[in-house]
Amino acid sequence: MTQMNRRSFLHTAAAGALAAAPLPAAPPASKMIGIQVGAVSFVDEGVEPVLDEFQQDASINTLFVATFTYGRGIAGRQVPGSPLPDHGKQQYDNGSGPGTFHGGSYTRIHSQYYKDTVLTDFRAPEFGDYDVLEAVLPSARKRGMKTICWFEDVWSPGVPNVRQAQERNFDGTNATSLCFNNPNYANWLLGTVEDYARSYEIDGIMWGSERQGAFSNALRGSLGGGGDPAKVTCFCDFCESKARQRGINVERAREGFQALANFVQAARNGRRPVDGFYVTLWRLMLRYPELLAWEMLWTDSLRETYAAIHSRVKSVKPSIGVGWHIWHNNSFNPIYRAEQDLSVLAPHSDFLKMVMYHNCAGERMAGYIHNIGQTMFADVPQQELLDFHYRVLDYKMEKNLAQLPASGFTSDYVYREAKRAREALNGTNTQLWPGIDIDIPTAAASSKSTPEGTRDAVLAAFRAGADGVLLSRKYSEMRLANLRGAGTAIRQLGLA
Ligand SMILES: [Zn+2]
Repeated sequence: MTQMNRRSFLHTAAAGALAAAPLPAAPPASKMIGIQVGAVSFVDEGVEPVLDEFQQDASINTLFVATFTYGRGIAGRQVPGSPLPDHGKQQYDNGSGPGTFHGGSYTRIHSQYYKDTVLTDFRAPEFGDYDVLEAVLPSARKRGMKTICWFEDVWSPGVPNVRQAQERNFDGTNATSLCFNNPNYANWLLGTVEDYARSYEIDGIMWGSERQGAFSNALRGSLGGGGDPAKVTCFCDFCESKARQRGINVERAREGFQALANFVQAARNGRRPVDGFYVTLWRLMLRYPELLAWEMLWTDSLRETYAAIHSRVKSVKPSIGVGWHIWHNNSFNPIYRAEQDLSVLAPHSDFLKMVMYHNCAGERMAGYIHNIGQTMFADVPQQELLDFHYRVLDYKMEKNLAQLPASGFTSDYVYREAKRAREALNGTNTQLWPGIDIDIPTAAASSKSTPEGTRDAVLAAFRAGADGVLLSRKYSEMRLANLRGAGTAIRQLGLA
């Protein structure tokens, strides 16, 4: 397959922008300095003031504009309940009335790209006819800044026809997540990236899916809530038929997931199996290898989705960079990390944003340990379980469990994660852009971002050989002093 050289892409794109609008003091575009930003920031604060702030505070050269999501993580104002930052409208966007956060597409829907899907009505209503790319692209281009469409795998049950694209849980109910093997969703994804690539003069597209398969979910292998082993996906007709094509016995898989659900349920009720939790889980995996085959079916379906998106965009315009946001669970759950095989992802990835959110990682790791400590490792005291994870994930010993949420992870974590990813990508053309945490909301008693912490995280990422950094999750939750902390590092490195 043809591989685009990202470096030459970046240089050509930068040269093109400079030719169009000469900027005498333009910095060399050798490293990507990006920030995630949603439509609400441009609406509230104005395009030019926001871009001025980005350039002054942190020498930002690439915008990751949230073009589609039903989630508050990357769109909308500050999450209600967390303090508003020191810029933007000093008001939450929950409640009702004009401007209330709803989610959906923040760009116009060009209907010709959605002919092969029932998902056609997904426009975010909060800003009327406002199209965030139309609003931002001319100013960004004039300044020599690149623009990347950033969208994620987060849907609302209120979207018309969405049931026809949803995943099916093990218990037969519909999930709110959408199935990659369902043509309605697969075609929507391809239609969306084609819409972006043909309708706008963009420089790249990034998509993120913060989900995993049924096995890891049944074991509570993430930092999130849930925990009902019958509400795991996907068991829809498309997935079952794909499983059969791969030689997986669907009936055996169902038996296995029923046995796994019983195991998890017993653990939740405090009933220890005769041979203990860890041994009994191994007995299930040995008896039902279909459990792992089903997990890999889900993971391969995600990888095939990456490949299909990449190839669709390249067929439209090869110069558009395509890459992925890789979920923070990669930093906590060894099973999920095993599934993020960068050598397999690289051929379909011009860049990878590997999430390395050091500050919120403390409470997130503690949450993960709490969850996995109720299933697979229910026999292991949780401090020992945390120490074990520090070992197998190759972290220097960070704080102990009691202190971890209040301390967060150190910049050494960012260094180790970036170095590991860089080494895994050596010999490929894939750029590594670690995601850096600036004010991602944490519980009241948990660690908060600081200018020094942000600075050190950025320094660590570059020291480990990163090709850029992506300041996350969204400008509307960042305090300016912490954003400037990133800028301090960028100046110190001579990248400004
Ligand atoms: Zn499915």
